[in-house]
Amino acid sequence: MHTRQIQQMFTTLRAANPQPASELEYSSVFELLAAVLLSAQATDVSVNKATRRLFPVANTPAKLLALGEAGLAEHIRTIGLYRTKAKNLLATCRILLEQHGGQVPRSREALEALPGVGRKTANVVLNVAFGEPTCAVDTHIFRVGNRTGLAPGKTPLAVEQQLMRRVPKEFLADAHHWLILHGRYVCVARTPKCWQCAIAAQCGFKDKTPAP
Ligand code: SF4
Repeated sequence: MHTRQIQQMFTTLRAANPQPASELEYSSVFELLAAVLLSAQATDVSVNKATRRLFPVANTPAKLLALGEAGLAEHIRTIGLYRTKAKNLLATCRILLEQHGGQVPRSREALEALPGVGRKTANVVLNVAFGEPTCAVDTHIFRVGNRTGLAPGKTPLAVEQQLMRRVPKEFLADAHHWLILHGRYVCVARTPKCWQCAIAAQCGFKDKTPAP
């Protein structure tokens, strides 16, 4: 995809949604970190359902630790892999209290050192909470990057590196949200809705879906 097309693609996505936001519900950096950690291989809808019950009861590292593993697991049992996630989240809470004064650190290195926090989660927290121009590549962004020709790559990291190189600076802070929402609702996995896609003119996908 040429630079001119990339510029046009993001201009279009921005015009349709000038202030894109995460669909995960949170009201503090810690809540965001916890929600993203819980969202691995689960839908945002299922995480929001659980955190609407959990956060009013416990929304700080100390309060989550006070719940204990069984108590936390009870609140998040509707989310996939909840036992492992409960363990990781509590271990993360312990480290936040012991090493970061109970705050979520702003560095990638410190974030990725937290149990259950990989590069993708660190990127989301750095981008959404701290405004860093990072681009977390999830399954939707991986697909859209490859399918459109915007950022082809065999691994999420390769796609991320392409995005960081190719997305113009003015769009980088919000690119993650635009691409994720586009992949979730329009450029869906099985049958992309090309006939109603706003960026079809820039997209390099050869087998575009015709209008039904
Ligand atoms: S034209 Fe189709 S394949 Fe290309 S971005 Fe739009 S929905 Fe995806």
